Amino acid sequence: MRIAVLGGDGYCGWATALYLSRKGHTVAIVDSFARRLWDEQLGVRTLTPIRTLAERLSVWKEITGNDIEVFAGDVTEHEFLAATIEAFEPEAVVHFAEQRSAPYSMIDREHAVFTQVNNVVGTLNLLFALRELAPECHLIKLGTMGEYGTPNIDIEEGYIAIEHNGRKDVLPFPKQPGSFYHLSKVHDSHNMMFACKVWGLRATDLNQGVVYGTMTDEAALDEALINRFDYDEIFGTVLNRFCVQAAIGHELTVYGKGGQTRGFLDIRDTVRCIEIACLNPAKPGECRVFNQFTEQFSVIEIAQMVKAAASKMGLKAEIAYLPDPRVEAEEHYYNAKNSKLIHLGLQPHLLSDSLLDSLMNIAVKYRERIDASLIPPQVNWRNPCNDRRVEEGVAVGVGAAASGAGFEREAVPAGKSKGNGNGNGAPHRANGSRKKQAASQKA
Ligand code: NAD
Repeated sequence: MRIAVLGGDGYCGWATALYLSRKGHTVAIVDSFARRLWDEQLGVRTLTPIRTLAERLSVWKEITGNDIEVFAGDVTEHEFLAATIEAFEPEAVVHFAEQRSAPYSMIDREHAVFTQVNNVVGTLNLLFALRELAPECHLIKLGTMGEYGTPNIDIEEGYIAIEHNGRKDVLPFPKQPGSFYHLSKVHDSHNMMFACKVWGLRATDLNQGVVYGTMTDEAALDEALINRFDYDEIFGTVLNRFCVQAAIGHELTVYGKGGQTRGFLDIRDTVRCIEIACLNPAKPGECRVFNQFTEQFSVIEIAQMVKAAASKMGLKAEIAYLPDPRVEAEEHYYNAKNSKLIHLGLQPHLLSDSLLDSLMNIAVKYRERIDASLIPPQVNWRNPCNDRRVEEGVAVGVGAAASGAGFEREAVPAGKSKGNGNGNGAPHRANGSRKKQAASQKA
């Protein structure tokens, strides 16, 4: 199958591209390398030393003989995206190419606006490109379990049967997202449902839980193929974060009471879920929703598991309860359904002691690269503008990031990308109040 992986240089996308390529699919990666730029701008970096995409792919070709084509550009630029779809002619598009951090979207107005424009416009462009150029292509779009929030009822997979005043219907499950990032995903979901209804497109919206782990069979083939492992307060997900904290004897930073319960999954299950969705496409006109997670844990349960795993390795990890920087229920009912992917053949890798041990081993192996100043939360949901530390003098623009990733943005697909050049990279200013900004502009 011809599968385009949008966001294929990122955490989930890289693992997925390799997995699908190894399974014999013809894979293309579409990426602007914006994420590498955001890391630079925020002064954060992955624990693991990831290589440029060009290096990664040449090693992949050496080891497997498989080519993965690259289309370097920004999906918010419609001309680039349409040219890519036209050139590659995908049968399935897996769309990971979004700004995916809730804290990032809550830094300030600029980051909230950027997140929603990047995500909503990218997905809208994709819907239009598919309608125009590949109406049979199956869109597999990454949403998040965070779209639902934490209702006091069971969470269904996308839709709920309702009886109201004696009448019945099956309606989209109510959404109560918890950040401007999560809201962007809800907007995407609505746009997809609408496009499927009016244009007969076929789509699968994967409401993914929190992903953990970094190793997949493919990434393990060579050090040069290693995936990213984010541990900082902006991009790090909770289990990865706690393992890194334990590796350097830092307290495990539980926000609030720690009763926040979420769905989780191993990155090895992410890639398999994507494959399952590709091989079992939605019908024309259908926008189906799968809840993509395998287990539910509360934050305190995760912290206790990491503490136990660390102690087996002779590491002391105390649990610290910090005031919750987020606005969220700290204790609540949570019971989300997740049977659809299982029915289609997913065999989950459940969080076991051995997996925790191997995660801890990775954290320990690279502990020299850990910057402890990136651990404490700096973004408070209650503030409209957070003084988040930002690196000075980092170039803004997709081109800057693209060259860092070993590709010139305009180069691929050759002659087809005519971006507007304003580099929808990210907001430049990340700290300081409006007054401070105005003062510095005057100065
Ligand atoms: P990531 O930041 O590691 O990767 C995203 C990739 O998309 C990056 O390589 C980035 O450069 C690219 N990208 C972003 N905007 C782009 C644009 N406008 N044009 C082209 N490329 C662009 O993120 P991830 O953790 O791999 O997440 C992938 C998807 O999965 C996201 O949509 C995210 O919301 C969803 N998801 C992730 C998790 C998780 O735990 N990581 C959980 C639930 C859902």
